[in-house]
Parts: sequence; structure tokens; C-alpha cells
Amino acid sequence: MSAVIKDPAQPASTLVSLRNLNKHYGDFAAVDNISLDIRDGEFLTFLGSSGSGKSTTLSMLAGFETPSSGEILVGGQSLVNVPPHKRDIGMVFQRYSLFPHLSVRDNIAFPLAIRKLPAAERDKRVEAMLKLVQLERFANRRPSQLSGGQQQRVAIARALVYEPRILLMDEPLGALDKKLREDLQDELRQLHRRLGITIVYVTHDQEEAMRLSQRIAIFSHGKIVGLGSGYDLYQNPPNAFVASFLGNSNFLAVKAQGNAAASFEGQPLTIRLTAHLAHNQEVLLMVRPEKAQALSVAQAASTPLAEGWNEVAATVSEVLFLGESQTCAVVTAGGTAMTVKALSATGMPLRAGEPVRVRWATADACVYTEWQASDLNKAAAAH
Ligand code: ADP
Ligand code: MG
Repeated sequence: MSAVIKDPAQPASTLVSLRNLNKHYGDFAAVDNISLDIRDGEFLTFLGSSGSGKSTTLSMLAGFETPSSGEILVGGQSLVNVPPHKRDIGMVFQRYSLFPHLSVRDNIAFPLAIRKLPAAERDKRVEAMLKLVQLERFANRRPSQLSGGQQQRVAIARALVYEPRILLMDEPLGALDKKLREDLQDELRQLHRRLGITIVYVTHDQEEAMRLSQRIAIFSHGKIVGLGSGYDLYQNPPNAFVASFLGNSNFLAVKAQGNAAASFEGQPLTIRLTAHLAHNQEVLLMVRPEKAQALSVAQAASTPLAEGWNEVAATVSEVLFLGESQTCAVVTAGGTAMTVKALSATGMPLRAGEPVRVRWATADACVYTEWQASDLNKAAAAH
């Protein structure tokens, strides 16, 4: 397989377009009007809790499920009536689904055999694949004589051997233990870089999504509710659901008092300049724990509040010592629980019951004008 040379200055073009894609089972929308452009050569991950519509979307792309409505375009051509084996798409599932009675070599050769490739060409490609996934030594073994990770490498080789332009992977590492999963994640990332193919990957594991992907599409209830790099989605979540789903977050209920002003529990705050806020409109502030810090009262008194920062009074409820850092659970005067970073200039740890001042930079707090109570509850969303 030849590597695709990409000009990094040139943004990749769209390879696959999902347009208003729906999949209904009775009156239940498993996939609810999804539109998405997948770029040529990118590693894109569908991340979401179980039942959010990831696999159904991937299956429609693969051709195993027919959309209730909507379009799937590859290079501008509709795919909806093209059968799976003519789609130029490879697929790897969580269960390896290898043929138990065939050797590793014959498993990998299988897609070429059904495509009736000449034997010489077939052998050449299979050897190249064995090398790519580092299984040359195991070519004559049966799947049952391999570890889970090796079996999954066979499945990947089998999906890649006919050189599809697009590789779809549905929780391919889900059955493996953590260490092996991380090794294979690294291999997959390198494989993607070397081959330059487009990979669409499904996982419910946010760390895996972050490790692997150039972009992540966050699924919830059959919709894509966030799309971007892991960095952007984490630093600037587009909504409260994504903020809560990806990483940890503090949510503060505040009232807008003019564009960049707000009140929190009756105390004045500054917030990011946000258009169209009515006076006294309830908005939600989101601050990541690592962006908020707790200072002892003495420390706060000797450290002037920097320009563009906020401060609220709180009481420590619990301190967690984590080696290089301390995390601190606090409750504000008005009863809002927050998790923050404990700052200790003196090396003196904060103590439960101690009054503190919690500070954060206005620029680090996201402002949301719409949300649902369920968006703020990560536990409810996760599984
Ligand atoms: P995910 O892969 O994100 O876990 P799926 O795409 O598998 O989610 O499923 C999305 C929703 O569609 C789930 O609620 C699931 O129960 C439902 N679903 C999937 N396949 C069928 C089916 N064949 N019949 C009825 N409901 C289905
Ligand atoms: Mg699934």
C-alpha cells in the first residue's frame, strides 16, 4: 500500500458526507438527522455512551444498515444503493470474527480470494500485511493459537489487505485489557500515519478517543452534539453536555448583569463577553477543576486578585493529595460544590473546614445559555 503524501498547509478535502442521515426503529430514532463531513485521510472518532447511535451510523456507512432517510456520499457519489463489498470500505469489529479453521495467512487472504485476485498478487499483498501488523512469525497459526491482541491485528490486516480508502472500526480494542489496548492504540496511530487512509473509529472511552483521533464527534441520543479536536472540545466545549461528558467540570449558576458582568450567589463576577444576554438571565458558567484554585485566606490577602480574575468565598470539604498536586473539594457560601486545585505557596496543605478563596480567570470559564439538568450529570450520561 502506498503512503499518501499530504501537504500539511492544504486542508484535507471532504471524502465522506453524511447528509440528514436518519435511522428509525418504529418511532425510535437511533440516528437522528446527522450531517457530517469526514475529511480525506483523517482519523475521526465517534465517542458517546452506549446506545447513542455510534454503531448504527457506522453500519450505515459500511452498508450493513439502510438509512430510513438521508444521504451518504463518498467523493460526491451516493453510496446508499451500493452493496457493502463494493464500497471500498474495510471494517473491524470488537469481536474479531476471524475464521477459526483458517490460518492467519488465509484469514488475511480471504477478502482477496473472494475478489478473485491472481495468486501471485494475493501472496504479495498478504506478506506485506503480515509484515505491517508484525505477525510474520504467526502466519501459519490458527486464530485460537493467538492472543486477543494478535487476533485483532489479524482482523486489522484482513480489513486493510484490499486497500480500502476508508477503514471503519467499531470498539475494536474493547475486549482487550488496558495495557494491550494502549499498545494497539499506538500501533493504530502509526498505521494511520503511514497509510494515510481515512479511519472512522467508534469508542465509548474518552481517553482512547483523545489518544487516537484528529477529530472527535460526540454522540448523544442519536445526534452529534460536539465536533472538533480533543483539545478544542475539552478547552472550549460547545455545550454543557460535552463539558460534562469530556473530563471533569464545575458548573455555577449565575445571573447575567450586562454583557460581561454577572452575579453568583449575590456576588459580582465577570464572565466572557456573551452576546444577547438579558438582564438577570440565568446562565451557566463552566470552569475546569484545574483552572480554578483555592487559596487560604492569608494567602489570598497577600496575593492581589489579578486583572480579569474572579474570586468567591468557600469552605474546604475535602482535600485529596495526588503527589504532584492537591485537589480540593469546596462548597461556596451559597452552597455550590466545586472541585478545584489547591494552591499552597507555603507548602501548608489546606484542611477540611478551612475557609478559602476560590479564583479563576474569566477567560477560562465557558458561558452556556441553554442546558438541561441531565447535561450536568456525567454519571447519568456515561453508560
Ligand atoms: P451505540 O453503538 O452508540 O452503543 P447503537 O447505534 O448500537 O448505539 O444503538 C443506538 C440505539 O438504537 C440503541 O438504543 C439501540 O438499542 C437501538 N437499536 C440498534 N439496533 C436496533 C434494532 N435492530 N432494533 C431496534 N433498536 C435498535
Ligand atoms: Mg456500538
